Amino acid sequence: MTDRQFIEDKLVIATHNDGKMREIEALFAGFDFTIISAKSLGLAEPNETEKTFIGNAVLKARAAALASGITALADDSGLSVTALNGAPGVHSARWAGPNRDFNIAMKAVKEALLKAQSDDARAEFICALAIVWPDGQAISVEGKIQGVLKFPARGTRGFGYDPIFQPYGHNMSFGEMDPNIKHAISHRADAFAKLISRCFIPKNDG
Ligand code: IMP
Repeated sequence: MTDRQFIEDKLVIATHNDGKMREIEALFAGFDFTIISAKSLGLAEPNETEKTFIGNAVLKARAAALASGITALADDSGLSVTALNGAPGVHSARWAGPNRDFNIAMKAVKEALLKAQSDDARAEFICALAIVWPDGQAISVEGKIQGVLKFPARGTRGFGYDPIFQPYGHNMSFGEMDPNIKHAISHRADAFAKLISRCFIPKNDG
């Protein structure tokens, strides 16, 4: 895939999730362009119909770029459990039900593992990022962090499945960890580093 520099002065973030928007705003704080959310532009949220994180990230960014005429960035992420053949995967948010209750989702993961009768606790968080220009060119990357699932859930920091995920090399769950440490090692940090090296020029680089 050919690289391309983002040289425009505006970037649409294809999300209606305020938490995700804040995290992305912080990651782009050192860059010389304005970011705008798809929510603030009133853009519709497309259905995430693809089977992969990359597929859904490209789908969301493409929809926002075409609707706004502005280059767009989207993130699609989730938890992939080895003994569950990658589930909940792209359905990570859906496992939490209509009220986005992650106590339900974490309990469902525990029950699925019991049903699978596996003592393999390996899991990874995956984050796909895609940037799509209004002319249709797309660049996508994927970041990961690997670890193990541990029950019961521990910690009240973070979000989603954080309280049951313990990254390798650490003895705390993401739910217990200082957010600055999580953000430095996470799947999202990994994906951003890859995307930045391919498409973005930091403000003070000349
Ligand atoms: P998306 O909005 O379709 O990308 O859904 C992402 C879902 O994956 C979230 O709702 C969480 O369930 C899960 N997820 C993604 N990243 C994290 C993380 O860093 N910690 C915990 N859960 C995460």
